[in-house]
Amino acid sequence: MGRADGGPGRQGILRFSYGIMGSGKSTVALQVHHNLIRRGLRGVLCTLFDREGTIVSSRLGVSHPAVEVTAGVDLLALARAEAATGGLDFMVCDEVQFYAEEQVDQLGAVVDETGADVFAYGLLTDFRGRLFDGTRRMMELADEHLPLSVEARCWCGRRATHNARLVDGTLTREGETVVIGDTEGADTPLFGSKVTYELLCRHHFTTGEVR
Ligand SMILES: [Zn+2]
Repeated sequence: MGRADGGPGRQGILRFSYGIMGSGKSTVALQVHHNLIRRGLRGVLCTLFDREGTIVSSRLGVSHPAVEVTAGVDLLALARAEAATGGLDFMVCDEVQFYAEEQVDQLGAVVDETGADVFAYGLLTDFRGRLFDGTRRMMELADEHLPLSVEARCWCGRRATHNARLVDGTLTREGETVVIGDTEGADTPLFGSKVTYELLCRHHFTTGEVR
């Protein structure tokens, strides 16, 4: 078992920070990565479905090259390769709600085997109000669970806890889980409809009352 940096007794942590859309999740992930790199640590940035391809960017104007975590990517193999070459102190993983369960398992193994820290970021629930698969697995495995504390609000003023999917302005709980915001779903039954997302409190998510 190769240590990332040979530090005796170094023990990594798997930390899961979760939020809803609009919680600034990706911005926080990018900032954490940026700060650790500036401190001289060696790490990898991982994401999925970023609109800019493999560059993670944020409204802060900071961007870094990233590994895109598509279905075939073995995150443990990636970490081993990094540890064996330049060394690996940490991984920052964004959009983990979309990771396969086995990829989340791999992140746990990265921590245990290499001693690197894994800082994972993801959305809690999908538009149906159910935990994403990757999120559920991360909840089961993580050493620490941190809610992102950005105060998103429903139109009524209550704290927003749900990402609602609107099709032509009407809340829907059916369809594919993975639909990226504001796309025209050309290969789905949503064809021709306008898909948007809105942050709602639990009450208005349940009643379906949108603004
Ligand atoms: Zn509300």
